[in-house]
Amino acid sequence: MTLQSFGVIGLAVMGENIALNVERNGFPIAVYNRSREKTDAFMAKRAGGRNVKAAFDLKEFVGALERPRRILVMVQAGKPVDAVIEQLKPLLDEGDIIIDGGNSWFEDTDRRTRELEPTGLRYIGMGVSGGEEGALNGPSLMPGGTDSSYQYLSPIFTKVAAQVDDGPCVTYIGPGGSGHYVKMVHNGIEYGDMQLIAEAYDLLKNVAGLNHTQLHQVFTEWNTTDELNSFLIEITSNIFPYIDPDTKKPLVELIVDAAGQKGTGRWTVQTALELGVAIPTIVAAVNARIMSSIRDERIAASKQLTGPSGKYGGDVKAFVNKVRDALYCSKICSYAQGMALLGTASTTYNWNLQLGELARIWKGGCIIRAGFLNKIKHAYDENASLANLLLAPEFKQTILDRQAAWREVIMTAAQLGIPVPAFSASLDYFDSYRRDRLPQNLTQAQRDYFGAHTYQRIDKAGTFHTEWVPITESTK
Ligand code: NAP
Repeated sequence: MTLQSFGVIGLAVMGENIALNVERNGFPIAVYNRSREKTDAFMAKRAGGRNVKAAFDLKEFVGALERPRRILVMVQAGKPVDAVIEQLKPLLDEGDIIIDGGNSWFEDTDRRTRELEPTGLRYIGMGVSGGEEGALNGPSLMPGGTDSSYQYLSPIFTKVAAQVDDGPCVTYIGPGGSGHYVKMVHNGIEYGDMQLIAEAYDLLKNVAGLNHTQLHQVFTEWNTTDELNSFLIEITSNIFPYIDPDTKKPLVELIVDAAGQKGTGRWTVQTALELGVAIPTIVAAVNARIMSSIRDERIAASKQLTGPSGKYGGDVKAFVNKVRDALYCSKICSYAQGMALLGTASTTYNWNLQLGELARIWKGGCIIRAGFLNKIKHAYDENASLANLLLAPEFKQTILDRQAAWREVIMTAAQLGIPVPAFSASLDYFDSYRRDRLPQNLTQAQRDYFGAHTYQRIDKAGTFHTEWVPITESTK
């Protein structure tokens, strides 16, 4: 019996599409899904005429694969991954590789690696980005684990991944859970990008007064620019002209304004707090979704809480260009935060992440793919130990050139009562980062005052405590 080169467990949206991608690139596959119906449907339709072997139990699946086996698990993150591993373990042989391609929490990946590797099995935690279309035609792949295991997978993944001008969108990320961590931060950055675009839309629609044809035109034009050209700007431009066949209105205006936040976006914020890295734009994006989700409460509040309601009196065309500048400056700050988080995680966990390489593999396949990532790669190529992206010459100059427009947009939004939490958080990040003195001297004084927490001075070494006012014991 000829054996298949690659196995996929889980035939939901992602597994099915990535399986077809692997096969299309010349690697015969075996597939298995817990419930038989998905496998039957897959074999009857999409796998027809392809080199696919369907298995209906894991023993049969494992027996269909050449050794050392390469098995991609594409099931729901969390307990299902552990369940599949437990069932696979007794069936596998030394050197076989299990790849978890789902959105797993990186500490789970670390744990699974620790548990599996001493048994002689190899484990790769791989972030996969690009959704359904990416999985089928070329995703961005972020594999973490041992380098030697990755090298055995590399001939397949370099073909399956999206291809861009400087190579396939895959690279060895680092040990343990690093691949899943990088994918998680990628998703956090995606949250930031989406919120910044939503705020630009709000301003263009409700301050500049653009209709949907004009919104389409503006986003189409932005998508031709070096700085904003990206998948998310492109799909946004395509959303505006879509007319609902029933009501003949732009469909986007009929969609409920409440977005969920769970999984990777929330995890990015949690880990940033734990590592002590400020990512205010991404936090603002998660918070914006939380605020959006209390829709009934907002609707009730809107009838009681008033704010400014004036019309914008300035030059609309100039304002549109200022929003573009504000969006770009904010986006730079958001990526600076994401990269700073990755840099700190790399040092904390000894991952040796190559930040320029990460920017390169996000250039194609994934949701945040953008021309702008070339500039980030270039910044790290020039200086791999850059403390913050804001200090890269190109980004520094861009912000210096455009910060007046950025500030004006945020001031206009505040005057007209339009919330721009991610634009504002980005500007605050920039202003905090560039200040040589922040007001936390007062915070330290207060902490020393009420809790004797002590403080340091700028004019002499040592640790100090002051009795700010005499403390007397109560006689009551
Ligand atoms: P999903 O909806 O997350 O998961 C469904 C799959 O998991 C089904 O094949 C299901 O099998 C299987 N499953 C659930 N519990 C199981 C268990 N205890 N044992 C064995 N199999 C079990 O599928 P998905 O959307 O394709 O996503 C797969 C992974 O990729 C997830 O981690 C997801 O977060 C990640 N991801 C998704 C996207 C996306 O755009 N959808 C993008 C990037 C990453 P049954 O058919 O038997 O129920």
